[in-house]
Amino acid sequence: MATTIEEPISQAIPPISVRYCAVCSFPLEYCEFGSSFTKCKETLHEEDEDLYNKYYSEEALQKKLGSISLEAQSKLEKDTAAKEAKAEKKADAALKKKMASQVTIKRIERNKRKFVTSIHGLEAFGVDLKKVAKQFATKFATGASVTKNPQGLDEIVVQGDVSADIVEMIEDGVGLLKGVPKENIVEVEEKKKKGGD
Ligand SMILES: [Zn+2]
Repeated sequence: MATTIEEPISQAIPPISVRYCAVCSFPLEYCEFGSSFTKCKETLHEEDEDLYNKYYSEEALQKKLGSISLEAQSKLEKDTAAKEAKAEKKADAALKKKMASQVTIKRIERNKRKFVTSIHGLEAFGVDLKKVAKQFATKFATGASVTKNPQGLDEIVVQGDVSADIVEMIEDGVGLLKGVPKENIVEVEEKKKKGGD
């Protein structure tokens, strides 16, 4: 019996005739979920070979398998997208951390008119501290080394007051300092403590 629900005229949907199974009484697509699947198949095979082939031919089963693997594939794609989003977020956070990292250039007065310059934070920008210490030593013809500061963090100590020159080198992206953002430079001056060493 036809239902009398009115459909919008513009949507010409072809009528779908649902065929019910004579054995389990489910629509044919659902026989496999019933408890008489084998009998359902046999009966359909006898009654309607075309319909049987539509659901159970080699080709139909192949198609079905294809759609299953498509589902699996779409799940895989979703998982991959999620993983990629996660990695992107991580890279983003790393970049933010990097951009927030300060390069502290400190002018330290050791004695009257005797200074050392310490540089901390370059490693956050992928700078090899030992190599850049060498670069400073060569450039300023002075001693430069990598040491641990009182906080236990690596820093470069260059003999002499070269802080302004190092700031300039970073601004110009000289040699190994290429890519270190000048916005991240913090200049500090440490006066000799009275009665100190
Ligand atoms: Zn059935």
